[in-house]
Amino acid sequence: MKAVLDHIGIAVANVDEALAFYRGALGLEIEAPEEVASQRVRAHFIPVGQSSLELLEATASDSAIAKYIEKHGPGIHHITLRVEDIRAALAQLKAHGVRLVDQEPRPGAEGALVAFVHPSAAHGVLVELKQPVPSVVEGAPPFASRASAAQGPDLLPKRLPFGNLRLTSVNDGLFRLDGGAMFGVVPRPLWERKAPPDDRNRILLGMRPLVVEADWGRMIIDCGAGDKMDAKSADIYGLDRRRHLEHALADAGLSSESFDFALATHLHFDHFGGATRRDADGSLKPRFPKATYFIRRAEWHDATHPHERNRASYLQDDFVPLDQAGVIGFYDADQEIQPGVRVVRTGGHTGQHQIVYLESGGRTAVFTADLIPTTAHIQDPWIMGYDLFPMETLAFKKRFIREAIDREFIVFFEHDPFVAAGYIREQDGKRYVEQVL
Ligand SMILES: [Zn+2]
Ligand SMILES: [Zn+2]
Repeated sequence: MKAVLDHIGIAVANVDEALAFYRGALGLEIEAPEEVASQRVRAHFIPVGQSSLELLEATASDSAIAKYIEKHGPGIHHITLRVEDIRAALAQLKAHGVRLVDQEPRPGAEGALVAFVHPSAAHGVLVELKQPVPSVVEGAPPFASRASAAQGPDLLPKRLPFGNLRLTSVNDGLFRLDGGAMFGVVPRPLWERKAPPDDRNRILLGMRPLVVEADWGRMIIDCGAGDKMDAKSADIYGLDRRRHLEHALADAGLSSESFDFALATHLHFDHFGGATRRDADGSLKPRFPKATYFIRRAEWHDATHPHERNRASYLQDDFVPLDQAGVIGFYDADQEIQPGVRVVRTGGHTGQHQIVYLESGGRTAVFTADLIPTTAHIQDPWIMGYDLFPMETLAFKKRFIREAIDREFIVFFEHDPFVAAGYIREQDGKRYVEQVL
């Protein structure tokens, strides 16, 4: 069997002192902590080449790490070996009579499969085997977390029951945009660590529409780029739709015919290109045949009157056929579109760019579209160069993120290739995302 050292887990009793050693004395870089609520543990990853150190801090006295420290004191807790086929690895170990903690692989973090080998069989070391989810894109870069980086984007639908609403994050594949343009005035040495560019300076991005279901029907918010893009543009944008919205809806048990509503945050091609599709006879048709398409009237005006700066983003074939088919529900101001679904204009990115609040039972989730396109954009001034009115983006974003932290909004990141949604947290003045989906 081929195995690669994935990480070494270290149980720490005093996390501040441990960080002082690894960060302060050794000068290593430490990633924002990841909360593993089910294990009552907080993990701080320290990348060291191809592997990492994982500092494990108990968050409750009944955590396995707390018990470990009680018994053995702080120190190395486990090593994790990455294998290609965990079932084959377990079969091989069983054939050698090796004592296992897990006879069958079980789901670990980020969709990986894991299994533990008993320390008595491994000469006193707790050994974890891990089979990451297969990488969809060769050489996919790290983005929000170390675990994701090793595994590539997970393009399966992710479901979140949310009071009277049921939210399902789906995707329309991946694409790439110029890294400099994605981070505006932020210098490359700062952003390239979070979003490594390819040899054409482009960073990997997702397209993640959100399905909302309630007793009033089924709605999709944004719908990806769709399949109309020509080969030249598809190459420029590195469009990768080997897994796209049709797959994602099928995986979620939904059909295009079953949607009652489609809602646009704005009409850029990477958000509403999927609203129309080309028929066998070459004509353009609404993608969701029974849906009403909700579009803000002033955004419609801007999209149908493009100028030199936004012409490449507003592709008329994406939305004009909807008007011709008479399926648009125009509206004018911020409002509740359906019970629990409320649009709020942010401006900034486009004159009428809006985000969508999902509210049920006192909880709030927000689909932030291009206001906070990825988890790398949670710092206030990390604003896209594409934005038409960046100071408007800054003013809105500052207020919004403050409130999102204080009120614990679940924030959806439409363009993040790895993280569909999470809480924005702040600790000692440093922001990070606690992944939910
Ligand atoms: Zn946009
Ligand atoms: Zn966008």
